[in-house]
Amino acid sequence: MARIFISPNRYIQGAGEMKKVGEYTANLGSKALVLVSQGGKKRSGAEIEASFKASKASCQFEIFNGECSRKEIDRIAAVVKGAGCDIVVGVGGGKIFDTAKSVANQAGTPVVICPTIAATDAPCSALSVIYTDDGKFEEYEFFKANPNVVIMDTDIISKSPVRLTVSGIGDALATYFEARACMRSGAVTCAGGKTGGAAMAVAKLCFDTLMAEGVKAKLALEAHACTEAVEKIIEANTLLSGIGFESGGLAGAHAIHNGFTILPECHHMYHGEKVAFGTLTQLVLEDIPQEELQAVLRFCVAVGLPVTMKQLGIEDPTPEKIMSVAKAACAPNDTLHNMPFEVTPEKVSAAIFAADAIGRQALKDYKPVGGETR
Ligand SMILES: [Zn+2]
Repeated sequence: MARIFISPNRYIQGAGEMKKVGEYTANLGSKALVLVSQGGKKRSGAEIEASFKASKASCQFEIFNGECSRKEIDRIAAVVKGAGCDIVVGVGGGKIFDTAKSVANQAGTPVVICPTIAATDAPCSALSVIYTDDGKFEEYEFFKANPNVVIMDTDIISKSPVRLTVSGIGDALATYFEARACMRSGAVTCAGGKTGGAAMAVAKLCFDTLMAEGVKAKLALEAHACTEAVEKIIEANTLLSGIGFESGGLAGAHAIHNGFTILPECHHMYHGEKVAFGTLTQLVLEDIPQEELQAVLRFCVAVGLPVTMKQLGIEDPTPEKIMSVAKAACAPNDTLHNMPFEVTPEKVSAAIFAADAIGRQALKDYKPVGGETR
């Protein structure tokens, strides 16, 4: 089995970069379909339009219906074909990028991703997470190539809700531990090969950056200040975590997240928030040293990531309910089987209850910084 490392062709991060979207896009095509939410169009539509006017390419907007589902992907792919667009641009959050990537793949066009938030590591990857129309995890869709361009306008992102960036920290927190598990087990990563040294180094840098800069960045973001710590966290959430998970591999944290998506009471929680609790559960499964576990817990409590089931919205975690989450997490096509030991629904259920108890203790032992994120 080969080591495989993949990444977007070009990653651009800086204040005011959204203003150049037309310029970056015109290198790849002549007519862009810009997929955006209603609110996103109101906020950035004029700026995007002006940017295309100043470039050699034209653009047409399409409003996203809110779910990255097969139905929505097929609908937009038909619009791309009907309008004769030769490039797809996704502007907004995770479900918009995932839809844009899948649409571009279906239509055979390049894709440009312009996140307005740093809430997940989806922007850089060559995969989309497909949900059912009512928001349940359905499958991962893998593409031949990563996005052509990813543009992170840190001016826009640093003014987005703090909870979203903190959620991105939760998603990025899993990266190193999942890559480490895959390296130990020799699992096949999302890139289709084994975890190599570069991916592992990026994953480790991602974790170290979060621990060093996360608390500073959260406080700066509460002041809508785009500081160097904020820039480093945006890079960790997006590029480092993106490369780290894709070429490093997914394992327990994301499978456990996927398990929790079957509970309706968790639907209001963001991906990274559930992944943070999935990470704690993976660390319990691995029985990592107490000191390492406590460092992660202290960090989660400080930045405001959930460490208990109650914080995820689960008021009544019956053994039956949690066993159904554990069974979903152990689905044959999911990544829990990338752990370097055998994992059963019984073990996962026990680890979830233990992570919850350890998390409740952590809420007594450690303090959050700044304001409430939820
Ligand atoms: Zn994720």
